[in-house]
Amino acid sequence: MELSSASKEDLKVWLKEKGYKPFIADQIFDWIYVKKEFDFSKMSNLKNDLREELEKAFQFPLIKFVKTEECKTGEVTKFLWKLGDGKLVESVLIRSGDRRTVCVSSQVGCNARCAFCASGKEGFFRNLSKSEIVEQILQINLYLKKFDERVSHIVFMGMGEPLENYDNVVGAIRHLIDPETLDLSPRKITISTVGIVDRIEQLKDEGLKVNLVLSLHAPNQHVRKKIIPYARKYDIEDILNAMENYTKRTKRDITYEYILIEGVNAEVKHADELARLLKGKQCTVNLIPYNPVDGFRMPRPSKEKIEAFRDRLQEKKIPVTWRYTKGKDIAAACGQLALKKEGEGLPIYSN
Ligand code: SAH
Repeated sequence: MELSSASKEDLKVWLKEKGYKPFIADQIFDWIYVKKEFDFSKMSNLKNDLREELEKAFQFPLIKFVKTEECKTGEVTKFLWKLGDGKLVESVLIRSGDRRTVCVSSQVGCNARCAFCASGKEGFFRNLSKSEIVEQILQINLYLKKFDERVSHIVFMGMGEPLENYDNVVGAIRHLIDPETLDLSPRKITISTVGIVDRIEQLKDEGLKVNLVLSLHAPNQHVRKKIIPYARKYDIEDILNAMENYTKRTKRDITYEYILIEGVNAEVKHADELARLLKGKQCTVNLIPYNPVDGFRMPRPSKEKIEAFRDRLQEKKIPVTWRYTKGKDIAAACGQLALKKEGEGLPIYSN
């Protein structure tokens, strides 16, 4: 058992087996989830022998804080974590109004290898465990404690393809929405996927009601295949059908992400085609200006071009939002979370 993804019931069983009173699980949960104290030796209402027992039994936290980098405006903070096996992953905290949104990673590296995305450039190493996903939130809550703030929203838009690590992602979400832990609302949790049909269908039946976002990025199968290798496996129509089924069942809104890349998908004719593809569907298109990453030499379209694309979609009555990408100066914008080797990166922000 790993402590950060154990339910209170699991912990009660463990305590009982060790000869302790099950109610002590309430105290331990209070330390971890309310007081945000992760050091057993500081859990002052626990007996010494139990603290030692906990220390022996659990490696907690599993992910260790390495450093943060903050963007100039202070709205975006990127966190680097070291995992038990020495691998490094990142999360991003975005402060916007009252919202404290964390962009979490679900894998070390990524198998999808989308042409425009930094996360898959070095390939795929492994899935993150349920606890490693949960702990990104717990650790950022600890960081936010000094500001008297806490994580309000979670988006699975960090490194990795969340639906390729399905069980751990769903397990982590179930843990985080548990009233005994952080009691987060599923409405404030969003999964972003490259589009894995059977997993979208499976998610629909989980009874979870989280928001689902599809990285569509193209108005047809042909263009999509050029930039997203997974498109060879799943047809665009089948993915859109699965998304529709998801929204019908869960009543959650559907968002289609569309990165505008010059020379690939950013012409007004593509906007027309996209409008035809999504006609009659209940959805929003989120336009994201492409963030240039190393190794993919396509530019971001001009502001005028992006506006022309947006205006054409609006003329065709497709609801559009435009994502202004924050955190570019610290490589924390969409698709910029890449694998790191130790020692790389920017100066350490003292924590
Ligand atoms: N694998 C998931 C989630 C990770 S990426 C997915 O494919 O959705 C999160 C979002 O950032 C996706 O919409 C992704 O396509 C987008 N993204 C990746 N690289 C980008 C880039 N260079 N510029 C802008 N957005 C990018």
